[in-house]
Amino acid sequence: MSLFLKKYALVTGGSRGIGREICIKLSSLGYHILINYKGNEEQAIITQQACMANNVEAHLLQFDVANRNEIENVLGAWVLAAEKNAIIEVLVNNAGIRQDTLMSFMSDEQWNSVINTSLQGMFYVTRTVLNPMLMNRFGRIINIVSLSGLKGMPGQVNYSAAKAGMIGATKALAQEVARRNVTVNAVAPGFISSDMTADLDEKELSNMVPMRRFGKPEEVAALVGFLVSKEAAYITGQVISINGGLYS
Ligand code: NAP
Repeated sequence: MSLFLKKYALVTGGSRGIGREICIKLSSLGYHILINYKGNEEQAIITQQACMANNVEAHLLQFDVANRNEIENVLGAWVLAAEKNAIIEVLVNNAGIRQDTLMSFMSDEQWNSVINTSLQGMFYVTRTVLNPMLMNRFGRIINIVSLSGLKGMPGQVNYSAAKAGMIGATKALAQEVARRNVTVNAVAPGFISSDMTADLDEKELSNMVPMRRFGKPEEVAALVGFLVSKEAAYITGQVISINGGLYS
């Protein structure tokens, strides 16, 4: 492969919250950024501008990570078109949703949408970018999971299952691709302030956290920034918690 390939980082769900801060962190490290989002173009453009302020390219890639055809049509087409002059060196599978309810009341839709966004999305997106990464003999894949996927959370059977599935996939894929210098790790946040947690009682729940506060998206992004670095070359197949000391 050419030494002069332009290096890109793809962040799914990069329009808001944790994903936005990861885009900004990776742009500050010199990566050109591919910002995936589902529908919120206004927010995606805000992320794009913040990345471009770091003197890199930032492109919007709209597709639903739960939709295999959209992934093929948009991301697959980008990978094909870019083959000779660009490489996605970093992939952050960050897109995720919550649809909380007790198992007895959980609809097929609530189960499927959460599993399809986090777990299936990770599978289809990763498979689309993996081969060029392997041929490049260097890559970083980071899966954003959750404390819920480690310990299970009542009211989140769907979300806990999706994130636990991602953790299993992280550990298996890490072993498949280690010889090609592609590392695969999972980052498991606890409570982080974002739109996803806006409906929670932050003051009340902070009492459960030894640090007595929710985390910031920038703090998760800093951990991702370390995991993509050359210094993190020997860390793979791991789940790294970032949760203010919550038991996990
Ligand atoms: P958020 O503020 O709700 O943002 C969600 C992001 O995911 C948005 O960019 C959204 O795009 C995108 N997205 C949702 N469904 C998508 C789909 N089907 N296809 C493409 N993009 C999609 O969430 P967040 O708090 O930043 O969470 C980011 C990740 O961290 C998630 O995987 C979440 O499970 C995980 N996490 C969060 C917390 C927390 O406390 N916040 C804790 C543990 C783990 P649009 O803007 O277009 O809708």
